[in-house]
Amino acid sequence: MGRTTLLIAVAILIVFLWMFVPYNFLNQHLPWQQDPEQQEQAASPPRSKSPGKALSAKVEVPYRKEEGEITFRLSDLKEKLRIDYEYDAQEGILTIRQGTVQLTMLREAPVLNRNGIYLPVEASPIIRDKEIRIPAVVVEEGLGRQVEVREEYALIEQNASVPALAETRRPKLPKGDPEGLIDYLSFLQTPIQGAQVSTKDSHLPGAERPYRNGVHEGLDYYSWTSRISIDSRTPVLSVADGVVVRADHDYQEMSEAERNRYLQIGAQNGGQTPQYILDKMRGRSVWIQHKKGVLSRYCHLSRIDDDIVVGKKVKQGEVIGYVGNSGTSQGVKGLDSGMHLHLDLFIYDQWLWDDFTPAERRHILRRVLDR
Ligand SMILES: [Zn+2]
Repeated sequence: MGRTTLLIAVAILIVFLWMFVPYNFLNQHLPWQQDPEQQEQAASPPRSKSPGKALSAKVEVPYRKEEGEITFRLSDLKEKLRIDYEYDAQEGILTIRQGTVQLTMLREAPVLNRNGIYLPVEASPIIRDKEIRIPAVVVEEGLGRQVEVREEYALIEQNASVPALAETRRPKLPKGDPEGLIDYLSFLQTPIQGAQVSTKDSHLPGAERPYRNGVHEGLDYYSWTSRISIDSRTPVLSVADGVVVRADHDYQEMSEAERNRYLQIGAQNGGQTPQYILDKMRGRSVWIQHKKGVLSRYCHLSRIDDDIVVGKKVKQGEVIGYVGNSGTSQGVKGLDSGMHLHLDLFIYDQWLWDDFTPAERRHILRRVLDR
């Protein structure tokens, strides 16, 4: 090959490279072609507020104010933050996933669950035909990402502080072992001074509830079946130390027609009342998150103490409110009959009673609560 041929070949190669290798590629890979602004950014990355935390870029996400609250469209968050979500329209349950973090929210209910534990956050998803929105507080508290609100959009951390949130270690749950469950729940005590677990089977967890084609989730304390007289002056006590995660101070009683409409939807759900309808049937409620994943829910209350607010730490035996009949058939009619406390217990958001016979359920509840 002559020298001229070699020169021509080299010239063709240079022209070829110039024409076909994308400019961006060169721009990114050849340091002398970077523009000065980019170089400066690379030299001093944005500073994180907490020293131990990984540096995190921020992405712009559009927001909308709904009733004075900043809200985001879930499909936008999915695209920009690489989270996943799923909405069960029948149950009204929204599940949001981000790595090992799983959040659950319930339609028309102000509760936020993360990996089985309820957070002291008042937030409900906004469900519409074509979109689902969540309040900014869910992104901040639930997903552990800072949100900075600007005029046109919000800046959200691209990388979440996942390790801090991904607490998934749990004590072993005593499945099908009555004595094990008694031991697990041994830090609880009665929600009503002097009352005992009901003598009637229909007041226990798992009892059938034909009016809504479902099953009773918790334990009812009515007058006399619980040994003492119970009415709207009966104080309800926290079963253990814990944090208030729900307190329905603004509860408005349903009309009878509304309640019947909900029951009708419930009865059509193939044998189990949807979660969001069950939530309405519980009336004015207080939920308290305790240690070991235990959640206690106090339902049908007539009144909640003023200082029982979301985020408050309560002591075992502290008065949280008073027995009532809110959310019940008598309550929506404005009657003062049917006063009772409905107490639910869950461990890591799981119903406890599947593995136990009715006799075992009563035995467990008596041992745990009758003190
Ligand atoms: Zn009940």
